[in-house]
Amino acid sequence: MTSQMTEDFVKALPKTDLHVHLDGSLRLPTLIQLAKDRNVQLPSETEEGMRELVFKERYASLGDYLHGFKYTGSVLQDAEALEQVSYELAWDNIHEGVLYIEPRFAPQLHVNAKTDLPAVIVAVHRGLKRAKDEYNRSEAVQVHGRPPFEYGLIICAMRMFSEGFSHYYAQLINSHPYSPRKRVFAMASLELAQATVAIKREYGIPIVGFDLAGQENGFPAEDHVEAYQYAHKHFLKKTVHAGEAYGPESIFQAITDLHADRIGHGFNLLSPWLIQDDHVDKQRYITDLTEYIADRRITLEVCITSNLQTMPNLKAIHHHAFGDFLQRRLSVTFCTDNRLVSNTSVTRELMLAIDAFNMTPRDVKHCLIYGFKRSFFPGSYIEKRRYVRDIIDYYERVEREFGVDAEHANDDLSDPE
Ligand SMILES: [Zn+2]
Repeated sequence: MTSQMTEDFVKALPKTDLHVHLDGSLRLPTLIQLAKDRNVQLPSETEEGMRELVFKERYASLGDYLHGFKYTGSVLQDAEALEQVSYELAWDNIHEGVLYIEPRFAPQLHVNAKTDLPAVIVAVHRGLKRAKDEYNRSEAVQVHGRPPFEYGLIICAMRMFSEGFSHYYAQLINSHPYSPRKRVFAMASLELAQATVAIKREYGIPIVGFDLAGQENGFPAEDHVEAYQYAHKHFLKKTVHAGEAYGPESIFQAITDLHADRIGHGFNLLSPWLIQDDHVDKQRYITDLTEYIADRRITLEVCITSNLQTMPNLKAIHHHAFGDFLQRRLSVTFCTDNRLVSNTSVTRELMLAIDAFNMTPRDVKHCLIYGFKRSFFPGSYIEKRRYVRDIIDYYERVEREFGVDAEHANDDLSDPE
């Protein structure tokens, strides 16, 4: 069954990427060029050198993985650079059939004396919109009936930061020397939530969601309740990085404290041994949490390659929790996390999963369509339904062209949504 699903077929299918960090997804030649133009020192000026020293196939630790963000962050300090990488990100996706993306970024990492918060967000939007307009006017869409490309922005707050993270964060820390650090983190995220709502309104930018990123262990979601409450009350959708480096309790907090609609990674959802509270029935805790997530269709944004690279205990792909997620019929979607840092694409993630978990064409179809259904689509609900319908029609057209028939897969077809 899986042999039907060639790379060409997977590439042709309409796909989404709901978890992709802008600053982890630059084209490598662009990073090198931007660094040259802006006098940013890189460890190497060649692609081969950078792949050997920074953006590797395997990383020794999470710190090693995160090292590359130092360089991408350094070049993304002006509107021109932000617009260029956003434009290129959209095209890199379109070229592999990823027709809906929700790039995420922490604008406060890019704010400095010359570039303010609205300028950062406007620049990203402009780059994406330019690519969208070009593609949607192209023959592929206008003549050959390919569905249009769409996107929504996700704004990330940081669980923690230090002076070295950015000019903005350094200023914030230094101007609040008497506040406990967690209060400063809370201040930054609330300010960002307020800014997000205001900028969305004022500039008419398709900002669709709010996210919490950064170091999980030791920096609980509850510090950011106020920011999420604000986002929630202003109808922003919410996703939270949780259960990546920490256990099920982090996912629980994301859902109960932060009202998460989706979970970034959620890798440790089914790991009772990571529950810190010894007074609870751990197995029951997992069962209740998983049932809630399944029934409410809280989508797990699965990033397999990224997990393999940052989790030393995860030795092989078939040990990834994705297989269990699939069996429990959780709502999952394939994401890249970081196209450059993880050296991956949505097509590559799918090919890896199809092979490792013996996914049927039906499984693949469910996951891909779920990406569109559970997206934080920026248009109206009626428009979203129409878009998803077009995507399903196009999906079936591709299946016919490649002679793949998902309907004959003999797995459980029942799906409440
Ligand atoms: Zn992420």
